[in-house]
Amino acid sequence: MPNPIYSSLPMTVFEEMSGLARTLGAINLGQGFPDDPGPEAIRAKAADATLNGYNQYPPMAGLPELRQAVAGHYARTQGLELDPMSEITVTSGATEALAAAFFALIEAGDEVIVFQPLYDAYLPLIRRAGGVPKLVSLAPPRWRFDRAMLEAAFSDATRFVVLNNPNNPSGVVLPDEDLALLAELCVKHDVIAICDEVWEQVVFGNAKHRPLIAFPGMHDRCVKIGSAGKMFGLTGWKVGFMCAAPDLTYSLARAHQFLTFTTPPNLQTAVAWGLDNSEDWFRRMPRDLERSRDRLSEGLRREGFAVLPSEGTYFVNIDLTASGIAEGDRDFCLRAVKEAGVAAIPVSALYEEDPVTHIVRLCFSKRDETLDGGIGRLAKARELSAASPAK
Ligand code: PMP
Ligand code: GLN
Repeated sequence: MPNPIYSSLPMTVFEEMSGLARTLGAINLGQGFPDDPGPEAIRAKAADATLNGYNQYPPMAGLPELRQAVAGHYARTQGLELDPMSEITVTSGATEALAAAFFALIEAGDEVIVFQPLYDAYLPLIRRAGGVPKLVSLAPPRWRFDRAMLEAAFSDATRFVVLNNPNNPSGVVLPDEDLALLAELCVKHDVIAICDEVWEQVVFGNAKHRPLIAFPGMHDRCVKIGSAGKMFGLTGWKVGFMCAAPDLTYSLARAHQFLTFTTPPNLQTAVAWGLDNSEDWFRRMPRDLERSRDRLSEGLRREGFAVLPSEGTYFVNIDLTASGIAEGDRDFCLRAVKEAGVAAIPVSALYEEDPVTHIVRLCFSKRDETLDGGIGRLAKARELSAASPAK
């Protein structure tokens, strides 16, 4: 019999909604990916490395030039001092990094604090590693934790906490005071933090991403996870990194060597070049996305939707109740894709317990025409919902 941890799971909501969008020819504002091909210079480097470079197994922990480039990037952008050889491992996307971190570090029965809404890979991987998730629920519109919530969650049984910051789906970029509070509790309870920071470069306005690993006492108790897919808007590339102190990295790399062992060397070469040559891209990309966020948000507000703020990621959320829509998020999203031709993500799918059911996530990393088309179709979904509400 298949293991129930997986056999009991539905298909991911991202695949479900993208599948419906493909079949029905809907505009896809669901799964998070840009609808442009990504920076040409980096794709050209990958093409050149494929044609003229080395395409056999690269070193297990990643090409030295990429590990060097990751260390250089984090030194420039986040002031981190990471040793490329003993503290950085290249993985096949952040998803593999998460799996490697959970499999390498969790022992059967270990308690792992996770915040909901959560990225959907966390719980099955934590459980498969033998961990026991302890859920902390965050609620709109602020989606923030406070000291009382953390103190209620942390105990002597806590071994790990998983933090996704900047946060998908809420678009929150945590301020220093929240990170300092979390760091304080990690140190007090001797807890390791698995920090999913894939959205670290996608931050808008005055918000600033600060890595938890930079906080006092955290260097030796953090696994910092990044993704080139998000940094360069090349989500299919699946090139990720794990940064952690040497003792942790030793175990992380042993887990990685039996998950994927290596990551395509042509893509590693291109990402290394990108990290060394993309100052301009890292300045422009968030500004362009911020403009797209504003275009989608303003368009939706004009159509009567209540749109929540977003300081980072590719996502904004709409509040159905505050928009005068009585339907639950899943019903509304199914109606939107089937009857109005636009796909979105019901945020309830990212809760395991006591879901918030009135928030819908929309991806704005799209061309203006796609966003404008999406706004019109969401307005239509809203009209249809008012005319014949789902029971
Ligand atoms: N974590 C979060 C929070 C994400 O949003 C994503 C992808 N969107 C991932 C991990 C996975 O990243 P990758 O595609 O590099 O595996
Ligand atoms: N991270 C992407 C999102 O949130 C989805 C990735 C996936 O489909 N697994 O939309």
